[in-house]
Amino acid sequence: MSIKENVAEIRRRIAEIRPEGVILVAASKMNDAQRVREAIQAGVDACGENKVQEFLEKDALAAYEGAPKHFIGHLQRNKVNKIVGKVDLIQSVDSEELLRLIDRRALSMGIVQDVLIEISIAGEEQKSGIDPHSLPALLSFASCCKGLRVRGLMCVPPIQENCGGNRPYFAQMKQLFVDNSEKKYDNVSMDFLSMGMTDDYLEAVSEGANMVRIGSAIFGARNYGG
Ligand SMILES: *Cc1c(COP(=O)(O)O)cnc(C)c1O
Repeated sequence: MSIKENVAEIRRRIAEIRPEGVILVAASKMNDAQRVREAIQAGVDACGENKVQEFLEKDALAAYEGAPKHFIGHLQRNKVNKIVGKVDLIQSVDSEELLRLIDRRALSMGIVQDVLIEISIAGEEQKSGIDPHSLPALLSFASCCKGLRVRGLMCVPPIQENCGGNRPYFAQMKQLFVDNSEKKYDNVSMDFLSMGMTDDYLEAVSEGANMVRIGSAIFGARNYGG
């Protein structure tokens, strides 16, 4: 199937659960500029990269023209200055330190950087993301950062053997999203709940995701063999 057919099929399946309001982010790692352009032509809403270097290379080739750019991977502190202002949304902020660095860079550029807070919803220690209990403290910290705006939450739950295994995590994310929407912090608006990938995006949408990040179902399986 072509990228165009894949995107149409994903849209169709999502629409069966939720007819509108779900943002489809193409997770385009390991796909070249031409394939990224194809996905944009096929109508994805945004493109997400998870490596700074790969993003910069493809961005220099104007791969993302016509679509918003998201950074979705683990962001190292020493790469913050390369990303702030270059992408529309940094989805993967998981520490006060990162907020501070992003804020400082954005202020120096005279911009406001949109970010999501990444949650480690399954409590896997080796993974990125903050403990859900730390969210209120991080949001109050963010409310003092005039160079950024928190637009919602993101998670990457465990890879599951069983279909449906991440559903409880998605439900917990939705609850966290709702609970923290009611609290009013400056610079914080809970607009986006980013969860769901190729294997579980339908479950994520039915549990309340309004942003999904999909790679292989759009582009085909990634070849890690090099
Ligand atoms: C690669 C990636 C995805 C998409 O993965 P697929 O399983 O191929 O859909 C989503 N989110 C992040 C952070 C990724 O790195």
